[in-house]
Amino acid sequence: MFKTEIKSQIDEDICILIKVKNHAFNYICECGEAKKLSVKECQDTKAIFISHTHIDHFVNFDTILRHQIGTGRKVIICGPKGLINQVQHRIKSYCWNLIEEGAISYEIREIHENNYIKKVTLNPPLWEQENEENFSSFKIFEQNEFYVEFEILDHKIDSVSYLFRAKDKTKIELDDGFKGGKWVSDLKRSYEMNTPNKIIHIDGIDYLSKNLYHMINIEKGKKVGIIMDHAATKENHQKIKTKFFKCDEVFIECFYKNEDKEFAKKNYHSYASMSGKIVKESKIKNATPVHFSRKYKKDDIEALLKEFETAQKAPN
Ligand SMILES: [Zn+2]
Ligand SMILES: [Zn+2]
Repeated sequence: MFKTEIKSQIDEDICILIKVKNHAFNYICECGEAKKLSVKECQDTKAIFISHTHIDHFVNFDTILRHQIGTGRKVIICGPKGLINQVQHRIKSYCWNLIEEGAISYEIREIHENNYIKKVTLNPPLWEQENEENFSSFKIFEQNEFYVEFEILDHKIDSVSYLFRAKDKTKIELDDGFKGGKWVSDLKRSYEMNTPNKIIHIDGIDYLSKNLYHMINIEKGKKVGIIMDHAATKENHQKIKTKFFKCDEVFIECFYKNEDKEFAKKNYHSYASMSGKIVKESKIKNATPVHFSRKYKKDDIEALLKEFETAQKAPN
């Protein structure tokens, strides 16, 4: 369902691209510098997810914007509180006297505590905050076949982690003697709407839907998590374990080596063995450590990855 790709090289800031099967658009997570992110990928992006706006997560926003102008589409940008003003200020720092109306439109969705979301749109050439809406939701984004949940972590500021969830699919495995037909979608709907006493007509015979439920098979939707900068605290770890439990795939910050634990503490970051441990405790199937301090050389990063792996595979 989801195809993920790290677009930043190991010595660049972080940027991850998520593609969705049979779906024309891309989703960008974090706007760190990323030479591997193509013009076409930026143009085909429907939504951008930003954990926080430290420069290493936001610096490439202008380049993405540069490529998106002229697509005539609306692009959604999701992130922590304060993002609306920050995006607006970034855009307004350029001169826009020649831009055509409708060249691009941005909808910014700010995530606050208690699932409170504030939404505005910015349109050229004036880029004023328009159409403000406030609502409450545990989903920050939803598309036909998937949606995105979030959890705010503490990084001395809010750092939003995201969970992409494919919706569960209801499938029917026909018993012998049954043939497909309109009744299949009636049965699926009955199951999804929890109406077990609905009458289902099959070849002139009426059945109670609950008597056919044994033919239903639920295919669980895949889950992909993006866990960026966060302090290695009990509170953050509890939130990660709850939100990302048994995730299929996760990208998690691993900014420091174990020997630099003190820096991690000072800068509200995680470190190799702690990220590995939390991934293990969350029973995540496939975890990729990302986002390393720029002070590290190739050898340091290799050592850091080893520390992560050791903690992830440690016996209980
Ligand atoms: Zn940060
Ligand atoms: Zn960072």
